[in-house]
Amino acid sequence: MHAALLIVLLTAHLALAYWCGHAEAVPPQLAMLLVQGMAVWAVFTRYRRSPSLIRLPWLLLAVAVLMQMLWDGTNALAAVLGDKGGYLAALATVLSGLYVVPCMFMSTRSFTRHEPRTVAVLDLVLLCMVAVLVYQFFTTLLSGPLAADPASIHVVVYLADAIDFSLAAMALLRLFGARSFRWRYFYYVAGAYLLVNAAVACIYNRIEMHGLPWWAGSLIDIPHALLVLVALRRPPRWLRTYHPSLGVSQTIASFAPIMLATMVVMLAISTSRIHYGLSLLVGSLAVLFYGLRVAFIQSRHIDQQRAVDQSTRRLEQQVGRDPLTGIANRAALDTRLREVLEAGHRTGGFCSLLMVDIDYFKQYNDSLGHVAGDACLVRVADALSHSVVRAHDLVARYGGEEFTIVLADTTADMAQEVARRLIAAIEHLHIAHPACPLGRLSISIGVASQTTQTPIDPMAMLDEADHALYRAKRNGRNRFETAAGDADPPAALRDANSV
Ligand code: GH3
Ligand code: MG
Ligand code: MG
Repeated sequence: MHAALLIVLLTAHLALAYWCGHAEAVPPQLAMLLVQGMAVWAVFTRYRRSPSLIRLPWLLLAVAVLMQMLWDGTNALAAVLGDKGGYLAALATVLSGLYVVPCMFMSTRSFTRHEPRTVAVLDLVLLCMVAVLVYQFFTTLLSGPLAADPASIHVVVYLADAIDFSLAAMALLRLFGARSFRWRYFYYVAGAYLLVNAAVACIYNRIEMHGLPWWAGSLIDIPHALLVLVALRRPPRWLRTYHPSLGVSQTIASFAPIMLATMVVMLAISTSRIHYGLSLLVGSLAVLFYGLRVAFIQSRHIDQQRAVDQSTRRLEQQVGRDPLTGIANRAALDTRLREVLEAGHRTGGFCSLLMVDIDYFKQYNDSLGHVAGDACLVRVADALSHSVVRAHDLVARYGGEEFTIVLADTTADMAQEVARRLIAAIEHLHIAHPACPLGRLSISIGVASQTTQTPIDPMAMLDEADHALYRAKRNGRNRFETAAGDADPPAALRDANSV
C-alpha cells in the first residue's frame, strides 16, 4: 500500500517537474515535500512502536528528515514570494546544514541507561557548537559578499560531503557494533538513509553549480523513498542472526563519541578562513570537551571498580565466616590448617591444633532454651578469639558447640599453655549453667601437635585432636588432654562412652 502511494508521489514529482520545466517550481517542490512527509511518517511509526530506550534515536532521525522538509518548504516559499535579497535561499541552506545536528547526535551518542548526565551535557554543548559554526559558515559564505566567489561554493560542497559521508560511515559502523537487534535495525535504517542521502547530496550539489535540470529534484526523493521502504518493510534476516562480539561492540561504542569532537574540529578548520577567532575557540573547546568526557568516564570507572573490589572482598570474607558467631567457618579452617601443615613440613616450624567442646551443652539448651544457647555460643566464640592474640592463628567454629584453634608454628608445650588460657577465659565469663556440676559453663580441649610423621591432610590432625578431646571428656571435663601417647581410636572411645 505505502509502496504504491510512494510510486504515485515519485511519478507525480517527475511529471510536475517536466510540466513546469523547472526543478525549483512550486508544484514539484510540493510533491517533494509529500515524499519527505511520508518518510517522517514512516520513521515516526517506528518511533511509536519502539521501547522507550530506543525511541530517542528514532525521534532524532524524524527530526533530521523534518529539517530537510523545512529546507524544501523554505525553497518553495522563496519561489512563491520571490526572494529578492536571497535571504530565504540562505535560510534554506542553513536549515539543510543544521540537519547534521540530529544526525550527529544519533550516530555518535552511546544512549546507555547508566551514562552520566555530565557526559550528556558535554555532548549537547558540542552539538550547540556545531549548530553555531554551521550557521556562521553558511550565512557568511552564501549570503554575504563572499557568495559571489565560486571558491565559497566549493568549500561548502566539499565540507557538506565530508560531514555527510562521515555521518553515514559512523551509523553503519554502529550497525556492526550493536548487540541488540532493535539497535542494529535502527542503525541499518539510519545508515542506509544517511549513505544514500550523502551520495545524492554529493551529485545534486555539483549539478546545482551548473544550473539544475528539471529532473534534478527527483534525486532528493531517492533517500526519502528508500527511508520509507526500509522503515516500513520487514527487516532482512541477517540483522537478526548477526551478533558482534562484546569486544567489537564495546570498541565501536567507545569510539563513536570521538566522531562528534572530530566533526566539530573539521568544521572549525573549514570556518577558520571566515571567523578565525571563533573557529579556533570552538575547535579547542571540542578537543578540551572530549578530554573532559574521557577523564570523567575514567574516574567513574575507577570508582565503580573500587566498589566492586570492596564488595568482592566482603563476599569473600562472608563465604569463610560462620553466620552465628562471626568467626571463621569449617571451610576457612580446612584451608588454613592445610597451609600451616605445609609450612610446618617446609620450615620445620610445626603447628598445633586445639579442638574445643563446650561441656554439657545439650543440658544448657534443655534448661535455658536454644536462644540462650545461641547467645552463649557467641560469647564463647568471642572469648576464644580474644584469648588467641597472634594474627596468624585462627579460631573457627567446627560445628555445633565445637570450636577449633589452629596455632601456626607452635610447639606442644606452647599449645598446652594456650589451652590452659582458654579454659581460664571461659571460667572468667561466669556463664551460669544450672545443669552442670560446676554450676557454670566450662570447656574441654583436645590438643594435637604436628610432627615429622603428621600427614599434610588436615583430617589426620583433626582426628588426633578429637581423640584427645574425648579423653578430656572421659577424664572429667573442664580440662585439656594431649594426643601424644593416645592409642585408642576416637570411634572406639565414642562407643565406650555410649555404653
Ligand atoms: P559433652 O559435655 O559430652 O560435650 O555434652 P554435650 O551436651 O555438650 O554434647 P552433645 O554433643 O550431646 O550436645 C551438643 C549440643 O549442642 C546438642 C545441640 O542441642 C547443641 N547445639 C549444637 N549446635 C547448636 C547451635 O547452633 N545452637 C544451639 N543453641 N545449640 C546447639
Ligand atoms: Mg560436641
Ligand atoms: Mg559438648
